[in-house]
Amino acid sequence: MTNKYNRVYNFAAGPAVLPEEVLETARDEMLNYQGSGMSVMEMSHRSKTFDNIIKTAEADLREIMSIPDNYKVLFLQGGANLQFAMVPINLLKNGTADYIVTGQWAKKAYVEAQKYGKINKIASSEDKTFSYIPDCSDLNISPDSDYVYICENNTIYGTKFHTLPNTKGKDLVSDMSSCFLSEPVDVTKYGLIFAGVQKNVGPAGVQIVIIRDDLIRDDLPVWCPTMLKYKTHADNNSLYNTPPAYGVYICGLVFKWLKKIGGLEAMKQINEQKAKVLYDFLDESKLFKGTVEKNSRSIMNVPFITGSEELDKKFIEQAKNEGFVQLKGHRTVGGMRASIYNAMPLEGVIGLVEFMKKFEKENI
Ligand SMILES: *Cc1c(COP(=O)(O)O)cnc(C)c1O
Repeated sequence: MTNKYNRVYNFAAGPAVLPEEVLETARDEMLNYQGSGMSVMEMSHRSKTFDNIIKTAEADLREIMSIPDNYKVLFLQGGANLQFAMVPINLLKNGTADYIVTGQWAKKAYVEAQKYGKINKIASSEDKTFSYIPDCSDLNISPDSDYVYICENNTIYGTKFHTLPNTKGKDLVSDMSSCFLSEPVDVTKYGLIFAGVQKNVGPAGVQIVIIRDDLIRDDLPVWCPTMLKYKTHADNNSLYNTPPAYGVYICGLVFKWLKKIGGLEAMKQINEQKAKVLYDFLDESKLFKGTVEKNSRSIMNVPFITGSEELDKKFIEQAKNEGFVQLKGHRTVGGMRASIYNAMPLEGVIGLVEFMKKFEKENI
């Protein structure tokens, strides 16, 4: 690598690459945040300075995603995995919900939810190792279903819902962890969106939840821990207890960066351009093959294989030596996976494809 910080191209699925500009600002503000005389890490979360940080972050996110006023934005902890429990705990009223299982994260959410109600699996793509998104235009949605659940971008398998399921009027809940802020979304189509920020937005430890007002309830059973009620956090503007303050600050810097590059419409174009470079090569390569059905492809996570475990291993090793790191596929699926989130520069993807071409010549 020849860049000034000697940084690698990091294709990790999460925690993942962040915009260099954001890291530079964080560095510059590390010891004395805007004249406060201290780092954001050292600051009271009740201080005026931090209040401004979290309010600005929320306002910028609302602007970027055009979040309507009747939705609350929450900065929480516990990862996407805690949402697998919080969603059913807070949203089950009739005690039943419908889940679409398109990968391991959706499956984990489905299994977790079963502790709290009657949970139906209404569609799945497990028959073909989750390599596609099933047709969700006319599913068997239960009449008394409280919500329909999806994992919108399947980080491990590299598939993405390009059309949202027909929920037949039920509220849609989406785990957007690995596609959050990668393209514009119509928030009004969802009852609840959640995303762990460590994929596309910031450091691990922050969970963003966007929830429609009327889904925030006051009448949860007494056993429900205070911290697991959306209402607790909504009523306190995410400051019920100490929030992941430094993480929120970094998310705020990433929102500023997104606004500067032109928002989600611009981000989408850049992301599509990057994904096209990689997919076009995979489609013509004699050695490398994509593992996902074409119309289900994600523009964030791109899994591929050579067909030989030995060559896969050799490729990952050699790529690493060239500064293209974290290309190993998820431990449960093998092969390779290039995660090309918002902050991965186009040059990183072009460089990777150049290297793949060279590797192909040498190994075919
Ligand atoms: C990474 C990921 C998760 C798990 O997130 P944690 O923050 O580790 O709980 C869940 N869903 C999706 C889609 C993910 O990409």
